[in-house]
Amino acid sequence: MSNFQFDVITLFPKAFEIIQNLGVISRALDNDLIDVNLHDLRQFGEGSYRQVDDKPYGGGAGMLLKPEPVFKAHESIKKYSKNLTLLMTPQGKVMRQKDLVRWSTFHQLIIICGQYEGFDERIRSLADEEISVGDYVLSGGEIPAISIINGLSRLIPGTLGDSESLVDESHNSFLLEYPQYTRPQVFKDMKVPDVLISGNHKQIELWRNEERFNRTVKRRKDLIKNKLCHDKDNKHESDIWFWDM
Ligand code: SAH
Repeated sequence: MSNFQFDVITLFPKAFEIIQNLGVISRALDNDLIDVNLHDLRQFGEGSYRQVDDKPYGGGAGMLLKPEPVFKAHESIKKYSKNLTLLMTPQGKVMRQKDLVRWSTFHQLIIICGQYEGFDERIRSLADEEISVGDYVLSGGEIPAISIINGLSRLIPGTLGDSESLVDESHNSFLLEYPQYTRPQVFKDMKVPDVLISGNHKQIELWRNEERFNRTVKRRKDLIKNKLCHDKDNKHESDIWFWDM
């Protein structure tokens, strides 16, 4: 078994071909750091038509995934110790970086992708967690599942060339990343800040910390507020000075 196994229940296994073409993730697959097993829901469908969906009781638009094929598919998956089942739904908890970090300590994630108008309510009983990728509605759970596979794989040791790159980046703490530049020093009259070419590492670090803070205040005040509420609940009063900014 690889370091981390994903088992995905989906009506559209072909949608996952994209992960073979996403640099970091395809390397993780090639190096056996992760495994992605696709379980085609159609194979678990009912009758000669392999039916997987049906009309909602009580009327209404669209079709719902039936419970039997999803339960059968879920039962067919070999479970390893430390596994978790995630159900993709816009009604779930909105995923954050800290969820990916938490899940990366498991060995196996089973991901159930909905389709059409959604799924029979009883399917929710299979889920340890119901997860949304944001407050918008997609046509299926495949793209959310690919986001999870992508975001989690880069946290598996050995996947990224330089694991330092995980430390400073946005959403790893409550601050966004600082602005980054590469060559050339001047491009279309836009200049790289002098401090970054000064060679003064202490000044660079100070500048970066300040930029992270300013940038987060400007773009995502909500991240700072959440952090403060969380710390207040956990009695880390020392950070409260941020309130005045
Ligand atoms: N009628 C449903 C939405 C169905 S969308 C409702 O109002 O809740 C079809 C499927 O796409 C969902 O079952 C889910 O698996 C997936 N999906 C759509 N948007 C999503 C999102 N923001 N996050 C996670 N999964 C989503």
